[in-house]
Amino acid sequence: MSNKVHLGHTARKRFGQNFLTDEGVISSIVGAISPDNDHVMVEIGPGLGALTEPVADIIDNLTVVELDRDLVERLKAHPILKDKLTIHQGDALQFDFTQLAQDGKKMKVFGNLPYNISTPLMFHLFEFAEQIETMHFMLQKEVVLRLSASPGCKAYGRLTVMAQYYCQVVPVLEVPPGCFTPPPKVDSAVVRLLPYEQKPWPCKDVTVMRHLCTTAFNMRRKTLRNNLKGMLDDDDFAALGIDSTLRPEQISVEQYVAMANLFIDKSTAN
Ligand code: SAM
Repeated sequence: MSNKVHLGHTARKRFGQNFLTDEGVISSIVGAISPDNDHVMVEIGPGLGALTEPVADIIDNLTVVELDRDLVERLKAHPILKDKLTIHQGDALQFDFTQLAQDGKKMKVFGNLPYNISTPLMFHLFEFAEQIETMHFMLQKEVVLRLSASPGCKAYGRLTVMAQYYCQVVPVLEVPPGCFTPPPKVDSAVVRLLPYEQKPWPCKDVTVMRHLCTTAFNMRRKTLRNNLKGMLDDDDFAALGIDSTLRPEQISVEQYVAMANLFIDKSTAN
C-alpha cells in the first residue's frame, strides 16, 4: 500500500482521500469560494481541514459532511474548528441538503471531492440547485472539461447538458497532482457552478429531460433520430427545427430542453 500518512492519518483510497497540501492553491480556492456569513457555508469531505480551516477563519459557522468516522472524530477534537463546525457524519450522496436551508439564506457549497463519486454527487446536488448560490469543486480535470464543454466537443455529453441546464459553469484553476498528498494519478481542476435564479430554458419535467439525455447519449456515434426512436419521430424533429441526422453531441442544451418538453406534451396529450 502506498497510501501516505499525512498529519498522522493514513489516506484511505476507498474514500478518495487525496489531501490538498499546496498553500497557494488552497488560498486561491478559498478566494474563489468567497466565504461569508450571509450564506449557509457547506463543505463536502473536509478531510484533514485543508480548506475547512482557512474558510472557518473567515466566518462564524461552517457545516461539513464527512463520511470517514476517524476524520469526523479528529474534527470534533480540533481545538479551533470544533466550536465553529456543524458536523454531519455520513454519505454526501444520501444527504438531504434542504435540512441546512435557513430563512432567506442560500447555501455556498464547496469541496475537494472524492473523484469516484463526483458525477453522481453533481447530479444529487443539482436537485438542490434552487437553494444554492454557488458551488466550487475540485474535480478530475476531465470532469471539469465535460462540465464546461460546448456542443460539438468530444467532452460534451449527458453531464454537460444537465450541468448547464441548472448552472452557469466556469472553470477556475488547474491543479497538478503534486499539490496533494498522496498525489492522484490524474490532473485536477477547480470549477465554479452558479445555479440559475431563472433557468434560461425551463423544462416541464426534469426527470424526463434526464431520461432523454441518457437515451440520446447512449450511443454517441449514432444519430439523434436513431437514439431517440420511440420518443420522437420525424414530424417532431421537423416541428422543433432540429436536424435528426446530427449526433447527440451536436445538440445544444436549449434543444435538449425543447425535445424533452415536446415529448412531455405528447405523453400528456395521449
Ligand atoms: N477537503 C480535504 C482536502 O482538500 O484535503 C479532503 C479531500 S479528499 C479528496 C475527499 C474527502 O471526502 C475525504 O475527506 C473523504 O473521507 C471524504 N469523502 C469520501 N466519500 C465521501 C462521501 N460519500 N460523503 C462525504 N464525504 C466523503
